[in-house]
Amino acid sequence: MGAQIIDGKARAARIRENVAEAVARLGTGHGLTPGLAVVLVGEDPASQVYVRNKARQTVEVGMRSFEHRLPAETDEAELLDLVARLNADPAVHGILVQLPLPPHIDATRVIDAINPDKDVDGFHVVNAGRLMVGLDGMVPCTPLGCLVLIRDVMSDISGAEAVVVGRSNIVGKPMGQLLLRENATVTIAHSRTRDLPDVCRRADILVAAVGRPEMIRSDWIKPGAVVIDVGINRVPAPERGAGKSRLVGDVAFAEAAEVAGAITPVPGGVGPMTIACLLANTVTAACRLHGLPVPPDLLSS
Ligand code: NDP
Repeated sequence: MGAQIIDGKARAARIRENVAEAVARLGTGHGLTPGLAVVLVGEDPASQVYVRNKARQTVEVGMRSFEHRLPAETDEAELLDLVARLNADPAVHGILVQLPLPPHIDATRVIDAINPDKDVDGFHVVNAGRLMVGLDGMVPCTPLGCLVLIRDVMSDISGAEAVVVGRSNIVGKPMGQLLLRENATVTIAHSRTRDLPDVCRRADILVAAVGRPEMIRSDWIKPGAVVIDVGINRVPAPERGAGKSRLVGDVAFAEAAEVAGAITPVPGGVGPMTIACLLANTVTAACRLHGLPVPPDLLSS
């Protein structure tokens, strides 16, 4: 195995330390405690785990956590009403509505109701626009975490060929924008892309955000490339016993690690970075809402 294995778990722990220090400074210097509200509608088991982890880590770094668990039959008007109350609540600096929402609720309408300055997920159309035109906004947590990992292992992203596979609004598109902002030459590939292996082979930086287990093979990877695997896919693992499963990424990790220069594992790569960046975004939002400077070292190593 030749590649450097990028330890997202350790890097996320470092960000949480930075955040905890910043939160302590805001408390002593300004009497300000950043607060994150997380809204969960329904009983989706994966969402429940995410929400629990977010709340626990929020408290661990010294911030206030406000959890709102609503039944699956909650209607859109009730949810919009809660969002309006959270927008108006001065103790709440970040609002996150856990996706997916039940099918009878229009997720776009709900996200668009969040005050963009409290939209710590960075999904509001205003924040997507700010990222596109190069203004300070809230940057979606998963691509932000990916960028931190890429910066750690690449001294100069400028001029590099970057290929992002996947064009979702929450990962692929903002990832492309962030890499463009770093002066990479960016290609965003998707399900209609022709000759995807050929496109991937051009990449100095390859980000996979597809949701297809181990789709990207070693012969799609340029030797020495930085490979960031966003995918989280649960696959059967009969070798662990009947009915058991395991998590794999969108990249065939073992064979890709023979070719890449650096690569993220799944689990333990991008996953932990997402919540760490959410906490950092909440501090950023709290500072901006109070007219305070944003600590420059939140994401530093
Ligand atoms: P979406 O399903 O919204 O988007 C998937 C993208 O992959 C689409 O743009 C789709 O193309 C493209 N795609 C699908 N099949 C192919 C194919 N055969 N070849 C090329 N492109 C293809 O997924 P998300 O962006 O929300 O998530 C992607 C993955 O990342 C998932 O595994 C998800 O679980 C994981 N994830 C991980 C996070 C983390 O914290 N680590 C956070 C968020 C997501 P098209 O647009 O043409 O349909």
